[in-house]
Amino acid sequence: MTDKKTSASQKAPKKSPSGDGLDTPIQFCPGVGPMRASILGRLGVETVRDLFWHIPRYYEDFHNLSKISQLRPGQVVTVLGNAVSVQERIPQNRNKVRHILQTVIEDETGAMLAVWFNQSYLADKIRVGTRLLLHGRTDLYDRMMQMSSPKHRIVDDDDDSTQGVEPIYPLSEGLTQGALRKILRSALDRFGGACQEFLPVGILEFHQFPLRLEAFRILHFPKHGEGAPTDRCEQEMELLKDGEAGFAQTLAAGDPHSLWEKARKRLVFEEFFIHQFLLRRYHGQVKKQIGVSHPHPAPDPWAQRIEIIEDGPSAWPALFIESLPFQLTADQKKVCREIEEDLFSPAPMNRLLQGDVGSGKTVVSLYAMTIAAAGGRQAALMVPTEILAQQHADTIRRLTHCLPGVRTVQLAGCAAAERRQALESIANGSAQFVVGTHALFQEKVEFARLGLAVVDEQHKFGVEQRQRLIEKGIHPDLLVATATPIPRTLSLTLFGDMDISTIVSLPPNRPSLITRWTQWDKEEKVWGFVDGEIAKGHQVYVVCPIIEPSENAPHLPSTEEAFERLSQTFLPHRRVEILHGRHSAQVKGDLMERMRAGAVDVVVATTVIEVGVDLPNATVMVILGAERFGLAQLHQLRGRVGRGCSKSYCVLVTPSRIPPYAQQRMKIMEKTRDGFVIAEEDLKLRGPGEQFGIRQSGHLKFHLADPLRDIHLLREAHEAAAKLYQDDPGLDRPGSERLKEEMLNVPSRLEFRRPS
Ligand code: ADP
Ligand code: MG
Repeated sequence: MTDKKTSASQKAPKKSPSGDGLDTPIQFCPGVGPMRASILGRLGVETVRDLFWHIPRYYEDFHNLSKISQLRPGQVVTVLGNAVSVQERIPQNRNKVRHILQTVIEDETGAMLAVWFNQSYLADKIRVGTRLLLHGRTDLYDRMMQMSSPKHRIVDDDDDSTQGVEPIYPLSEGLTQGALRKILRSALDRFGGACQEFLPVGILEFHQFPLRLEAFRILHFPKHGEGAPTDRCEQEMELLKDGEAGFAQTLAAGDPHSLWEKARKRLVFEEFFIHQFLLRRYHGQVKKQIGVSHPHPAPDPWAQRIEIIEDGPSAWPALFIESLPFQLTADQKKVCREIEEDLFSPAPMNRLLQGDVGSGKTVVSLYAMTIAAAGGRQAALMVPTEILAQQHADTIRRLTHCLPGVRTVQLAGCAAAERRQALESIANGSAQFVVGTHALFQEKVEFARLGLAVVDEQHKFGVEQRQRLIEKGIHPDLLVATATPIPRTLSLTLFGDMDISTIVSLPPNRPSLITRWTQWDKEEKVWGFVDGEIAKGHQVYVVCPIIEPSENAPHLPSTEEAFERLSQTFLPHRRVEILHGRHSAQVKGDLMERMRAGAVDVVVATTVIEVGVDLPNATVMVILGAERFGLAQLHQLRGRVGRGCSKSYCVLVTPSRIPPYAQQRMKIMEKTRDGFVIAEEDLKLRGPGEQFGIRQSGHLKFHLADPLRDIHLLREAHEAAAKLYQDDPGLDRPGSERLKEEMLNVPSRLEFRRPS
């Protein structure tokens, strides 16, 4: 393998510490030494460029402060004042309140009370003289204006900007807002000159985008009136915590015509544009490489009548199709054909297999793997969790039982000796199928002849990870399966580097699946229903957002608590088990095995069971604290039931009052089962703070851009990048220098590298 890499992967030349480029390591930035550099490193900030892209989460506009003398009860307000008295009380009667912190807060117009209950740690932080920003609802207490348990922030002494609009950044321990703000200010001064515009002029003019440096300035230090959004995302979080929908009306959307919004769009466009250009170029490069050309199997698996004369490897694909316990659907056949074409051709396959949960992607992937094996190559299947690895290995063994001489090994959840053996058979080529988690691309794993890499549930993996897997072979084919329902309109642009195969329809005879949203106070009814389903011999999942009860979110259902309630109070006569991320692979595997064997009635779990788990006998999915999950995740979770042949149910349980956005999510879930429809609905709905899961999907790591929110910009960037690629693929023309330099720096975030 030569070491010639695509130009996108070349690191930019190291700038000297005294340089003024955006690649300057952060520790050479004024106000940052080695200490702070390491703290910033934890935030992903290693260079000045990273620092510029460290965008505030929201802003605090001190022009919107309320004066204490003007407060009325029942308002949600922000005030800024000094604590002039701080009292701690430990109530004697041993009820739920264990600690009270009562403070008097004064601004230049008057005084008010602020109290916190059971937050004893605050006593160390809030002292007489502490300057505080308080946000919350006012009420009257003893004829004094009061806020109880307000959201608060201590305003540090070196705070220089409390007069204007203050950016609030994601922080890491050891760094304050004030310090970070200073660092950013001086970095913009010192390195701003390196921040030159490179977007096509036409685009800038059409959108009236501010220039690049100005855009960064506005995002970091907006002025009053430029339209920077205030802390509404925080408010939504707060709402979720209290389960109170009281001040949801105040969640105003940002002004689309504001300068801030234009600046944001300018930077979003940049991210999309670079991304789209790289995708396009990468696609072009892959297609030029010479990879594995898998031989056609004989007999042809798709022939009308198959006569299998010999049962050598070449007959495996036909045997495999023959002995499936079901007929492939038309869609499955169609995508099998598309994949075959790629496998037979010498250009490396780079294909995305898209299909809703339960659409039968596993069999299709497996078919591709048998073709590779038939031609004497190895096929690796990478999955995100050990449970899945175990499950897939079992499925493969079951479905390839009829293929003489096929050997499947797994690199997950196995003992040392077994593992050693597996490694050996991967290295000497005696294992054709290899299943595992990230462990697959560790150094120790050496493949004799890797010809096909399949990545299941790709949204759980980064591009880098799948890259490292294919580097285990020489231009192996790559098939990536995803069940993240992405609106059709989006997938083309998001996966511009891949060819796409889509399974649209589900296998026939799927049982009906009914989804109901209900409230906590009907809990007893829910468990009664669950009991009835168990009586019919079915199994049940109960999913909670967290593992153990949390002090910060006392109302949030946890697996530990739910497990106790079910096994002690509601379903003591049933076999209830608990499963979460802290359990070892061994425990998880055992439990799944017992589930499969019918020895367990209910599993109380976190989202560890979110992806891919396939137990046809499970008919009920109860999701506690369902308002805590986004649509994509709810859809994934629900996809765990309705897979066998019995009518199935999904019960969404929430507190009685949840924010409007969460309510709509529940209603959409009740209304439809189609992942693509859900994705489209989500696109329309998008509330503040809501993440559809694409931004972190691994394929894309944008700082600011969000493909769903800014789909129009994405389409435009897609076209602009296509045009540029056509005119100037190497970015060698005058005017492209800046862009080219910027592109060189991208691969640390977006790896589109294949060995060449
Ligand atoms: P996913 O696309 O979510 O990975 P799976 O591949 O796990 O879905 O398939 C879901 C279930 O449907 C499995 O139990 C599988 O055996 C079954 N299945 C797959 N294809 C068919 C088919 N054509 N007819 C009937 N059942 C099928
Ligand atoms: Mg699957």
